[in-house]
Amino acid sequence: MSDGCVYLVGAGPGDPGLITVRGRDLLRRADAVVYDNLAARSLLSEVRSDAEMIYVGKQASAHTMKQPDINALLVRLGMEGKQVVRLKGGDPFVFGRGGEEALELVEAGVAFEVVPGITAGIAALAYAGIPITHRNVTSSMALITGHETPDKEESDLDYEALANWPGTLGFYMGVKNLPKIAASLIAHGKDPATPAALVRWGTTTRQETVTGTLETITDVATAAGIKPPALIVVGHVVSLREKISWFENRPLFGKRIVVTRARLQASRVTAQLEELGAEAIELPAIRIEPPADPAPLDQAVSEISSYDWIIFTSANGVDAFFGALERASLDCRALSGVKLCVIGPGTARRLGQFGLRQDAQPKAYKASEITGTLAGIEDLAGKKILCPRADIAPKELITDLESMGATAVDIAAYRTVGETPETELLDELFADGGPDWITFTSSSTVTNFVNAVGIDRLKASTASLASIGPVTSETIRSFGLEPGVEADPHTIDGLVEALLQAQNS
Ligand code: SAH
Repeated sequence: MSDGCVYLVGAGPGDPGLITVRGRDLLRRADAVVYDNLAARSLLSEVRSDAEMIYVGKQASAHTMKQPDINALLVRLGMEGKQVVRLKGGDPFVFGRGGEEALELVEAGVAFEVVPGITAGIAALAYAGIPITHRNVTSSMALITGHETPDKEESDLDYEALANWPGTLGFYMGVKNLPKIAASLIAHGKDPATPAALVRWGTTTRQETVTGTLETITDVATAAGIKPPALIVVGHVVSLREKISWFENRPLFGKRIVVTRARLQASRVTAQLEELGAEAIELPAIRIEPPADPAPLDQAVSEISSYDWIIFTSANGVDAFFGALERASLDCRALSGVKLCVIGPGTARRLGQFGLRQDAQPKAYKASEITGTLAGIEDLAGKKILCPRADIAPKELITDLESMGATAVDIAAYRTVGETPETELLDELFADGGPDWITFTSSSTVTNFVNAVGIDRLKASTASLASIGPVTSETIRSFGLEPGVEADPHTIDGLVEALLQAQNS
């Protein structure tokens, strides 16, 4: 027998935060990951970049691997001595065919472990504000498959028993059969006035919940166009949702918001938006690359003690500068005696990560504010000032500093390069009206996004544009578009706040 092991890991119901700590640890060290549609995609970013990733598709689709093939695949990977994670939506043993996979592994003598996950029947209901049990309302819950073999005349389910079940009924995979489920329960004596609900894509930013009674729920779900995956719940606990609903009450719930910043910087804004209930769609319009010629920055770093000030106008500039410092085998002690200015809190935070504090920070992100702030600290005449910036940064700051008698050394420390999102992603995004918001955190995100999407498509969409500040707004206007909101302060936090205010107004 090999030393391989197959871990049947429950990914949880959709919200990537709902995987267990054990599950995430295993994902991080897996040699191979076998996953399907119901597991949260963002969990895959936990996986080692050199790990083998195998998509086995969703159930009931023609393009998927059949269960016997999945079983054989798991056995083969295990036999090869790999640490394999079989990532499954919800819990592996709740309608997840995890039992079949385990039996196959036992048969083949491949070691395996099971990591339970939070099943949709509990989690989707919790996120819909429906407790599965509630004192004095119900003390039991049944998890039922609503998927029945289509060619059978007789039902696989004992509706008599289900109609008399003294508790909550939770049907998985039942959307297609909803009319039959509801009618059969009523036919076997269940009160037609029993509250019922469907929760689609529970625990995700796409969650949708509809409620009614056993008698009305089919019509309600049809009218709302509810499709799988959804959980059907029948029982008096559904009524508690009126008071307990919380997830869907988040201020940006259901809003689709595009984040156009460079991928490496997107995570902070994405996390904030998701925390507020929005579906954050990362479509980076730019990426940050090293400068075409690193020599000028390396040169500046080698004579850094001759400078009086360094002005950092972005976190990228900080990263580039410290990259050069490291190349020169130096550390932050080389900066003693050099004063530091940062443009805003994000840049200050990044500087702080290198153990440094700024001497100056202007009130606003404007060249004149920076120069004014510095001039308020000391006379700039004869001072030597390093500005490690983007290759495309506007020259105004440099000319302002020089007009005060300083020697400003403008260095392209990094390049901003346009990123082209996949055509299919864009087509999907703009298919029905487009997203609710598109956020722009710099002029270059605007220019590159407009180029990638096409101005006509943007003008035709109902999406509103959110700008981080006046410079970015100007660029938006230069395309004949108008920002829906402009952040003040001109920071990520300010941008998120502006979206919240727009939502409330
Ligand atoms: N092992 C999974 C269930 C797999 S069966 C678990 O424990 O949750 C697939 C069915 O689960 C879907 O048809 C749907 O009924 C339900 N389901 C899975 N994820 C869901 C979600 N996020 N919201 C609502 N229902 C979900």
